[in-house]
Amino acid sequence: MFHGIGMFGGLYVMEASRRAGQSERAVSRTIGKLEEVRRELKIMEEKFDKLVLIDMAIWSLVQEKTGLTDDDLAQRVQEIDLADGVADGKITRTNDVGQKCGDCGRVVSQRHRRCLFCGSKSLESGPFGGV
Ligand SMILES: [Zn+2]
Repeated sequence: MFHGIGMFGGLYVMEASRRAGQSERAVSRTIGKLEEVRRELKIMEEKFDKLVLIDMAIWSLVQEKTGLTDDDLAQRVQEIDLADGVADGKITRTNDVGQKCGDCGRVVSQRHRRCLFCGSKSLESGPFGGV
């Protein structure tokens, strides 16, 4: 099989071939994961586009029914943006200082709807609680 390259040369070729096979399988797995991430990203983009559409519809209805202006909306967006202490055009989740459970008094992340310690639902804070 490896005639002319000697035993060590043959072993070297076999080892190189085995490693090439491992690399190929690793590349295959990575491509598979990449395709999975791409599919998930597409689903997220579709959900995002749908939410933007619904936001635009809601805003146009609110304007029609109330007479509020784009400036009113921009001002409110700025106020809510600043409420987390950072003017960055979004709600900053890293400033999660926690919330105190009304039943056991322990502090739990704002992301949770229920207390992780006692299971109390006293953490729920409006329609955006737990988002
Ligand atoms: Zn609790």
